[in-house]
Amino acid sequence: MELLAPAGNFEKAKYALQYGADAIYIGGKQYSLRAKADNLDDEQLIHLIEYTHSLKKKIFITVNIYAHNSHLDGLEEYIKYLSALNFDGIILADPSIFNLVKKYAPHLPIHISTQANITNWQTVKFWQELGAKRVILARELTFAEIKEIREKCPDIELEIFVHGAMCISYSGRCLISAFFNNRHANLGECTHPCRWNYSLVEESRPGEYFPVEEDEHGTYFFNSKDLCLWNRLKEIYDLGIDSIKIEGRMKSAYYVANVVRTYKNALTAIKEGKTVNPTWEEELDKISHRVYAEGFFAGFDSNTTQHYSSSAYTRDWQYLGNIIKHDNQYAWVAVLSKFSLAEEISFIFPDLNTDFTLKIEELFDETDHQIDFTKPNTIVKIPINRTIPDFGILRKQTLD
Ligand code: SF4
Repeated sequence: MELLAPAGNFEKAKYALQYGADAIYIGGKQYSLRAKADNLDDEQLIHLIEYTHSLKKKIFITVNIYAHNSHLDGLEEYIKYLSALNFDGIILADPSIFNLVKKYAPHLPIHISTQANITNWQTVKFWQELGAKRVILARELTFAEIKEIREKCPDIELEIFVHGAMCISYSGRCLISAFFNNRHANLGECTHPCRWNYSLVEESRPGEYFPVEEDEHGTYFFNSKDLCLWNRLKEIYDLGIDSIKIEGRMKSAYYVANVVRTYKNALTAIKEGKTVNPTWEEELDKISHRVYAEGFFAGFDSNTTQHYSSSAYTRDWQYLGNIIKHDNQYAWVAVLSKFSLAEEISFIFPDLNTDFTLKIEELFDETDHQIDFTKPNTIVKIPINRTIPDFGILRKQTLD
């Protein structure tokens, strides 16, 4: 079973791969949902494909908008351009794009996006007969439904989402964002208004907002919790699912790295018939997230999938920076957020067992001058006096 991670840009892709992803998915500059992700330009894309393959891993490219007539003009050229790149699969939803790929890039394996809302085994067969190699099932399926699809469709790759944000609508099939600020979810521009707080207004009394209250905080009746199926990995593995996917091309490198390694460690234990250490799950609380739920996996229940009291993220840990160089005395860190002398800083690495915490006794700037605190977008040197693996990340707890 493949662990598939989001890659919003080159750096996030690198961390996803180094922290244990077997494959990554990424948007090109055009025709991909997540229009606001820092999608790669042509040169970066070629470089990333080479980098991914050098690690013997896979890279998939998303072209999963629902195209309007005006989008069709450039699509043919874009598919021809993609055809010449040596990547491992194209993720699409719109039949017009499916046809263009069949015509101009017939060698490319086609994965049908979750945007196509595949909810039954007959639809899986439909796409299989048309030539799809893999289908990404709708998030809105129960375990029993996925099991029946696997049984009735044994010879096509099945992918499911296991972690990340959920929509109140069928994934992305929603116009709230388009109505409010002309940013379309189906073109990758969603502004997430489903998370906002709402009031009631009587038309002849503009400006008078009547609170609609579930409790003293207000109401968030559109606000879905985040999906987390970490505790279901064994069941999913036993089902014979081919790929499990983490959502979040807009999230930070730290988010992606930490979610990936937490799932990877559990998956490795399951594959080796070992016990999954339950404390690893705590790592999933150390990233910015909404309250977790298991979505539709055990059947739909609005009491467990919706978060009615707040749309705020839980952010108990702060991402401080990345270790860009190290020897057995010092680590050089590209700083993203401030930290100071005497603070307890957590150092994390691809293997959960190599993490450690260090109280910062000394800090140096790039010219080796002692400093008391760091500034974002600078490089600092920290004495560590130990050998560490590559790709370390620094974080600190923000709660007392
Ligand atoms: S507004 Fe919310 S429900 Fe609608 S597409 Fe965006 S995230 Fe999904």
